[in-house]
Amino acid sequence: MIKLDVLAIGSLQRDEKGNVFDAHSSSVLIRTDERMIVVDTSTPYMKPAIKTSFKQIGVFPKDVDTVVLTHFHFDHVGNNDMFENADILMHPDECGVIDGAKPLDIDREIVPGVKIVHTPGHTKGSISVFVKADQKYVIAGDAIPKYSNYKKMVPPAINTDEELALESVKIITKYADAIIPGHDPPFLVSR
Ligand SMILES: [Zn+2]
Repeated sequence: MIKLDVLAIGSLQRDEKGNVFDAHSSSVLIRTDERMIVVDTSTPYMKPAIKTSFKQIGVFPKDVDTVVLTHFHFDHVGNNDMFENADILMHPDECGVIDGAKPLDIDREIVPGVKIVHTPGHTKGSISVFVKADQKYVIAGDAIPKYSNYKKMVPPAINTDEELALESVKIITKYADAIIPGHDPPFLVSR
């Protein structure tokens, strides 16, 4: 039985000109029979919130054995140091950017029910985590940063390849019953 908990809800604020001035990513805990996985570690600003979530759930950061990073941007990787016993895994193309990170097997399950899917476009090495729990979840990172990207079917404003980015939005939406975006609360996909 896979359990999924949102440790921190991502947020993003823009000024009047539309420039981002404050960004903190979502952080998610996945518990399976074999593994304790955190997807994205957000920013140091969110550390107290993440610690509170661990207390409420009743597990400890030291018990996390795997940290999966959706991509290398600073607002997704800021609390890696909380997880002293974890392997830090990400797309092979982006490993070099983050201290101690190791390459993920792409488009494979890391444990039954938890699959890493390459969803490029925001960055070249962006990945999403597809989870089959009580329903089908996708932890999308910035492949789908905001609810509005899903609602309007538009790629993330920050991207390295707009076409690929839109394709990734579609791949995620097709699979998911619920999406945990990089910088918004989780939401349900309507069919
Ligand atoms: Zn990003």
